[in-house]
Amino acid sequence: MKQLDMLYEGKAKKVYKTDDEDHYIVHYKDDATALNGAKKGTIYDKGVFNNKITSFFFTLLKKNGIDNHFEKMINDRDQIVKKLQMLPLEVIVRNVVAGSMAKRLGREEGEVLIRPTVEFSLKSDPLDDPWINEYYAVSLGLATEEQVKEVIRQAFAVNDVLKPFLADKGVVLVDFKLEFGLFHGQVMLGDEISPDTCRFWDADTHEHLDKDRFRRDLGDVDGGYKEMLKRLTGEVL
Ligand code: ADP
Ligand code: UDP
Repeated sequence: MKQLDMLYEGKAKKVYKTDDEDHYIVHYKDDATALNGAKKGTIYDKGVFNNKITSFFFTLLKKNGIDNHFEKMINDRDQIVKKLQMLPLEVIVRNVVAGSMAKRLGREEGEVLIRPTVEFSLKSDPLDDPWINEYYAVSLGLATEEQVKEVIRQAFAVNDVLKPFLADKGVVLVDFKLEFGLFHGQVMLGDEISPDTCRFWDADTHEHLDKDRFRRDLGDVDGGYKEMLKRLTGEVL
């Protein structure tokens, strides 16, 4: 498959057209942003770690019956994905209170939720991804009711695969963000699943193995990405 012009450059990835109309090539960058873009930096080889970690998780999800956009990694920073028509939603699943949920609701970080929960944001940089609910998503024409239901079903199904898998690796899956799109009209999981988009805590120490090290200036920022790749695949970079 031949890479053609760049279609879009985002905060963490670049998306390229290919000579196949059903596929894109996604390139993972080292750029990192937090606080909705107000904090910017680079994390050494983050693009390599996230390409590999995302490829690992999407392959694991496929093996567990959750179809997704991932086709294959073509080098350390690039992967071929199915071309999706993205829904402008960020879908967040939470198992444990952290981040904006702790702040907004005045709860302690680390409180284990009685059951996993899901929430939506409108994907919009200028508006800082405002919170919306599933009714807004339908009323605003962002997705149909059936699509929203399917998004929620798949989001919890992803949690049901990843949470026990990670527990086995000594990692608590605190929360994570997913993005979905349509592939020939069908709701399909896209984007990435990585330490940029998930909170991973060491099960014993609650050490952060994710982008919170960058967001909160906790030091050894690339250490979390390295440790997660090692626990998932055994690979040491
Ligand atoms: P952002 O747009 O938030 O800055 P990224 O830097 O991660 O994010 O850019 C990747 C972009 O590609 C995102 O806008 C995401 O919605 C989009 N995307 C992810 N997977 C696919 C796909 N399979 N097809 C089309 N677009 C995708
Ligand atoms: N998240 C993300 N992109 C966003 C916002 C959140 O990937 O634009 C992820 C984040 O990494 C965490 C989860 O979604 O795993 C929940 O984030 P939260 O709402 O707590 O926001 P934050 O505290 O990061 O602002």
